[in-house]
Formats: sequence, structure tokens, C-alpha cells
Amino acid sequence: MGGLRYLPIPAIKGAATVNAQSLAWLPGAQHAAMAFTSRDLESIRQATARFAADRDWDQFHSPRNLLLAVISEMGELAEIVRWAGDSDPTIPPDKQQAWADEMADVFILLVRLADRSGVDLTTAFDRKLRLAGEKYPVDQFKGSNRKYDQP
Ligand SMILES: [Mg+2]
Repeated sequence: MGGLRYLPIPAIKGAATVNAQSLAWLPGAQHAAMAFTSRDLESIRQATARFAADRDWDQFHSPRNLLLAVISEMGELAEIVRWAGDSDPTIPPDKQQAWADEMADVFILLVRLADRSGVDLTTAFDRKLRLAGEKYPVDQFKGSNRKYDQP
């Protein structure tokens, strides 16, 4: 560990949507835990709905098409680190913006998918996090990667 591989923050100064704190998880990084810019999910849903409506794209945004689009964008995200190998856990500085952009594509389309299929994503998130907490109590699963139904 060490060297420039683990000090990518100055190298991505030009990456507009990647803030330095977002790299706090990197091995060797000594930064505070990151925080997203605050914005409520409903305003994001409205922005994506407006974007589609302005272009008359609702006609194309069936749940099926949006699901396939989410999967396609996940593929584009995976392509960035494809063949990178497991020995280097970092996203190279020259790929940080593409990494953020592809993640945003997935996020936008997932929000659209939820909107167009009648899912309140905030409520769904709250429910699943609560259920995951019940499945994986901290006192039994801290530091463990086993599945909840495995001994
Ligand atoms: Mg994309």
C-alpha cells in the first residue's frame, strides 16, 4: 500500500462531481466519513420525471425498458473496473468522473423505474433497511460475511 495509488484526491481536482471525502473508504485514506450533498429523493424523482416529460419520453419508459436500462448502465459501470484485478481496490483517478457518471445513470434510471412502477423508493428503502437489520443483528453479524440463514 502507499504511493500515489492511495493518494488520488489531488489528482482528481477536475472531477466536478467527485468530492474528496468520497474517497474516504480507500485503504490508507485518512479522511472523515463522506457525506452526500443533501437533497431529498422526492425532488430527484420530480427532476427525472420532468426531464422525461419535457422530451415526451414517458411513452418509452415502461418498467421493462427502464429495468433493462438500469442493467445496461450497471454494465457500463462494471466496464470501468473490468479486468482491473482485485489487488488494487481503488478507482483510478482518471476514471473517477466516469465512475460517478455511470453511477448517476444507474441512480437516475432506478428512480425512474420506481416512479413508473408505483414504488415509493424512500419507503421501500426504509422497509428493507429495517428488515436487513432484523436479519443481521449487530451482535451476531458484526465482522461476519455469512448469510443470515447460515450457521
Ligand atoms: Mg452510462
